[in-house]
Amino acid sequence: MIDLAEAVALVERTCRPLPPRRVRLLDACGRRLAAPVVADVDSPPWDRAMMDGFAVRGADYPPGGSVAELDVAVDLAAGDVTALEITAGSCARIMTGAPLPRGADSVVPVEAAVDGTAGAHAGGRVRLLDGRFRPGQHVARQGAAFHRGREVLAAGMTLGAAEIGLAAEAGATHVVAAAAVRVALLSTGSELVPPAAVPAFGQTRNSNGPMLAAAVQLLGADPIPLGIAADRPEAIRAAVAQGLAADVLVLSGGVSAGDLDLVPSIFARCGVEQVFHKVRLKPGKPVWFGVLRRTAAPETIVFGLPGNPASCLVCFELFVRPAIAILAGRPRDGWHLPRCRARLAGPAKAATDRPVYLPCRLRGAAGGCEAEPLPWSGSSDMLGLAGAGGLIALPASGRVHEAGEEVEVVLRDSGRVGFG
Ligand code: AMP
Ligand code: MG
Repeated sequence: MIDLAEAVALVERTCRPLPPRRVRLLDACGRRLAAPVVADVDSPPWDRAMMDGFAVRGADYPPGGSVAELDVAVDLAAGDVTALEITAGSCARIMTGAPLPRGADSVVPVEAAVDGTAGAHAGGRVRLLDGRFRPGQHVARQGAAFHRGREVLAAGMTLGAAEIGLAAEAGATHVVAAAAVRVALLSTGSELVPPAAVPAFGQTRNSNGPMLAAAVQLLGADPIPLGIAADRPEAIRAAVAQGLAADVLVLSGGVSAGDLDLVPSIFARCGVEQVFHKVRLKPGKPVWFGVLRRTAAPETIVFGLPGNPASCLVCFELFVRPAIAILAGRPRDGWHLPRCRARLAGPAKAATDRPVYLPCRLRGAAGGCEAEPLPWSGSSDMLGLAGAGGLIALPASGRVHEAGEEVEVVLRDSGRVGFG
């Protein structure tokens, strides 16, 4: 049995970032860029009309709100171009999104056409009265947002909708992004039945399966659910062999000291090297961690988490989370859940022999944050954990921490941390 800090350090030291991959832009939402995106065009690419109306020469437009009477030389819809130059006394009928013709530098909105001339087309005349006219108005100038060759998205940025749109505009059909970590999930236990089943006497729903899949997704990684394996060596071994094709394999159940806790010996037979088994931690003591090193293929990081759901989730957050974050190439400050200091709103008891994690509700209070311990019956109680804003982390002491005492709180995942 090793200390929690040592166990976390061993996970951090064992895991290495996966090489970044070139992915289609359409598959890149939520991924972190591993290389910058550089624009291959100016934005706007040319002087662009931003209103429907008439492209005019600012120098020709009469100041002080008098009427300008102009020949309409050409009609330009979005996508239309012309070689015609707008000369003194003429203008172009233009729609939003069309390039300004040579000679023109401003757009007068169609609403400014007077005396029934709003419908004037090429060959006709228009009378314009725009009392607020400013030269250059309603035109987005070429390169106003960025120029060709500019780095528009930096390495390390996470791609959301806006960033995907910008990359598309900048000409990136593919991007180099941190790899999506593939995490195989296997629940072991002959008592387990799928969550959709009504458990018979002695049976337990496989709640760890969906829970771990959700935890993996919240990290922006890809869960590969392998379902349930009964406590028979051949069954677990076959599923483990399948799971070892992933970047990370996470088992739940079968790692404590019971007769049917077969998992560590199966890992050994599959060539998975044990890094640690059992950590001074409550809940989560039986947790197992190792790595399968191969010469021909990338290594697989392997966890055996305790079967009790609350222990399973606490171990996921403390050990599996940093492993996935490191493989995904996240910077160090994104490896772990954030922690804060909070004052206890009620008493909380520390264990004598190991650090303990207790679910709590968090509230803002005068001068800081307040942590209210939630009713919780221990490692199989998910009701106490669901809805908790955090986990109070108490070092081993055996004493009761009283209301008002300051403690450390691990904040729970509040959303999709794959972003950021
Ligand atoms: P184990 O770690 O295999 O000794 O299991 C400890 C406890 O957790 C037992 O009560 C199991 O029935 C329960 N358990 C194991 N796996 C799961 C699972 N996937 N979902 C819910 N409970 C489980
Ligand atoms: Mg079991």
